[in-house]
Amino acid sequence: FGGVVKEPPMHIVHVAVEMAPIAKVGGLGDIVTSLSRAVQDMNHNVDIILPKYDCLNYNNVKDLQFHKSYSWGGTEIKVWLGKVEGLSVYFLEPQNGLFWVGCIYGRANDAERFGFFCHAALEFLLQSGFHPDIIHCHDWSSAPVSWLFKEHYVHYGLSKTRVVFTIHNLEFGANLIEKAMEYSDKATTVSPTYSQEVSRHPSVAPHLYKFHGILNGIDPDIWDPYNDKFIPISYTSENVVEGKRASKEALQKKVGLKVADMPLVGIITRLTHQKGIHLIKHAIWRTLERNGQVVLLGSAPDPRIQNEFVHLANQLHSTHNDRARLCLTYDEPLSHLIYAGADFILVPSIFEPCGLTQLTAMRYGSIPIVRKTGGLYDTVFDVDHDKERAEAKGLEPNGFNFDGADAPGVDYALDRAFSAWYDGREWFNSLCKRVMEQDWSWNRPALDYLELYHAARK
Ligand code: ADP
Repeated sequence: FGGVVKEPPMHIVHVAVEMAPIAKVGGLGDIVTSLSRAVQDMNHNVDIILPKYDCLNYNNVKDLQFHKSYSWGGTEIKVWLGKVEGLSVYFLEPQNGLFWVGCIYGRANDAERFGFFCHAALEFLLQSGFHPDIIHCHDWSSAPVSWLFKEHYVHYGLSKTRVVFTIHNLEFGANLIEKAMEYSDKATTVSPTYSQEVSRHPSVAPHLYKFHGILNGIDPDIWDPYNDKFIPISYTSENVVEGKRASKEALQKKVGLKVADMPLVGIITRLTHQKGIHLIKHAIWRTLERNGQVVLLGSAPDPRIQNEFVHLANQLHSTHNDRARLCLTYDEPLSHLIYAGADFILVPSIFEPCGLTQLTAMRYGSIPIVRKTGGLYDTVFDVDHDKERAEAKGLEPNGFNFDGADAPGVDYALDRAFSAWYDGREWFNSLCKRVMEQDWSWNRPALDYLELYHAARK
């Protein structure tokens, strides 16, 4: 990468509909923020264009000010500029009220709302005289940027701009993704294994020549057990045992579990089919059988699934009130305490483009237990089976994994994890220290993105 580093800074504009921590629904929001910060730290110029939702978490926007307004699409669009996690964000507020609906997703006209936003974002770039090197768009929600740009803007002073499109999840909006795959100059997805898994998909297969799997990273400043206001004491890998003991106790108190030295399994997830709902339920019961504790933090967009879990919560809270707690909501502060206080973080996904929770778990010294799919396969190396595969990446094994999407599969990994905890605490503690010392930040993947951005401009 030597040559890359010496070249002049690039200007990269992300057009996105999620951004942590002000408008986050899932991993996409984390990545827009953390990738941008990593690339900005490498001395490139990064801007983000986001809808100005009425439901933004404004506490985390600094210096918000009116920037300009323009007319487009039959309405006035007010543009606000603010700082989020040190990044410049342009907020587009169409006065037709498309983003005054109290939520990010979930309206019948989501595709129309985001389509309007994408077009308005390009119009903003044009009218402001921006000439970015790269416009980076994400998933179905900002996919239209790629063809709107090529159809309407590339000839208007933006001819040196290239469009990069990232698939965070191929499950949603495949027709929009297919079109973006066609129109973008480069396309990526969020892990090497997921890129292989989707390579025969009809929207991906024709475009493999410009398609790359680049692993996501996590932002080590946003997720930092040494500097985290949601956990009781600061810790690093040097005092991981003490730090996690205090966090476990705080977690047990906070959610009302028995304060005791027991293996604690944490699960932090959207509750959807993708995340392995039946495996999650099975793992809860198995954990209780093995005399462990379990805390699940999750919410279901589908009310039927939410109801199922409300039912399960009622049942568990009456039979195992001191050892199981299901928190069926979205709660950022509680997620931090679970990452820090759990011994294990379970991620039994049916498919998983990258997955961030296993990476965040390791940052907090929790041991990931995952199903071998997508990015989970690329980041978790089984202590019993993956020594060589880990070594090939310059790593030591860091967790437990399993293949089958069924109860025996989960049990195979969970049982070994519990045995390790019960029978070899010293070894287990050294594993916690080891995973904390692995680097799952953007240090490496951001360089891959920079190389891709450069290649797009050739
Ligand atoms: P996905 O994008 O498919 O939801 P990822 O693992 O890529 O899955 O990202 C999930 C992100 O959302 C993580 O940062 C995780 O901590 C967070 N998260 C998921 N569910 C919740 C919840 N109920 N409360 C707080 N944070 C959550």
